Amino acid sequence: MAARSLRIGLIPGDGIGREVIPAGRQVLEAISTSFKLKFDFVDLYAGFETFQQTGNALPDRTVKVLKEECDGALFGAVSSPTTKVVGYSSPIVALRKKLDLYANVRPVKTTATVKSPIDLVIVRENTEDLYVKEERTFESPDGKGKIAEAIKRISERASHRIASIAGEIALRRQKIRDSGVHSVHSRPLVTITHKSNVLSQTDGLFRETARTALSHSSFSDVAVDEQIVDSMVYKLFRQPSAYDVIVAPNLYGDILSDGAAALVGSLGLVPSANVGDGFVIGEPCHGSAPDIMGKSVANPIASIRSAGLMLEFLGEEDAAAKIEKAVESNLDEGRLLSPDMGGKARTEEVVEDILKKL
Ligand code: ATP
Repeated sequence: MAARSLRIGLIPGDGIGREVIPAGRQVLEAISTSFKLKFDFVDLYAGFETFQQTGNALPDRTVKVLKEECDGALFGAVSSPTTKVVGYSSPIVALRKKLDLYANVRPVKTTATVKSPIDLVIVRENTEDLYVKEERTFESPDGKGKIAEAIKRISERASHRIASIAGEIALRRQKIRDSGVHSVHSRPLVTITHKSNVLSQTDGLFRETARTALSHSSFSDVAVDEQIVDSMVYKLFRQPSAYDVIVAPNLYGDILSDGAAALVGSLGLVPSANVGDGFVIGEPCHGSAPDIMGKSVANPIASIRSAGLMLEFLGEEDAAAKIEKAVESNLDEGRLLSPDMGGKARTEEVVEDILKKL
């Protein structure tokens, strides 16, 4: 069988993005032969430094090459200026829009050896809800000061497609578990989160539509549950092992993702994927970390896991599982850990160790 060719855009961005994206590339190169994959990488630019150099945080070429030539991409991080800079806006937010990457997928996982293992993924709707940014401020008609209001928009179409992708992810995670990656779960479970007891129309539509999408026969092996978002936060912190796949509207998903990341010790461990129909961008959850930039102490695991996650969405589950096993073996052994994990290893030593384990 001929090798499958995959063209991958590499967008390191700013700060430690430049130190960790090469790790993602090295890991992809290392598994290519065993999984009959042929990677062809293309270097692309975006970020605050690109903005300072060119006046544009997301050059047209980057978008064009991704759209027309690539199968997927790895995105590092972008620095956010502390004060408003005229003309600058986040390139990753723009990319999600331009490529219609409607799902933000964040797995949060510990290794099997910790006392209370966690293995969950948050699937956040990425295009609507309060983030449509339709806000206005006006003077109260009774003269008692200003009033600000925002639109929360939920559509059947977006709710249906996010719930469907959550169902697909649940099935795929089971397939990966069946290949020998440890887990606390024995069958796929999707938990729909909402606040329809208060927001009966918007969250009510999300809940109902997600239920309908997940009742499709292709998801007959997936158990479906639902939970009000505030009670989910409580349970997520007390009993995170109860969750497998959580599907959420944009705002709740945003908050839950950061909260869940806190459960595993370091931002340097948590990957994400921005997923649309036919395209995926792997992206570590951390930012550009200016405090540790250039010191070779950044943890490369979030970036390596993001490369694995990208492969998973490109249909290469076995290769993704192999990467995850190598990462877990590095963490379990604990011999070569970066400083955020309590170790002394430099970025390249952690990468070397993971490459050896592949
Ligand atoms: P930005 O402005 O780009 O969001 P930030 O420093 O506000 O940057 P993060 O980059 O997410 O936000 O970093 C938060 C903290 O976590 C920092 O102290 C940073 O050093 C640490 N951190 C983030 N990523 C890593 C990593 N890969 N390895 C080690 N430490 C990390």
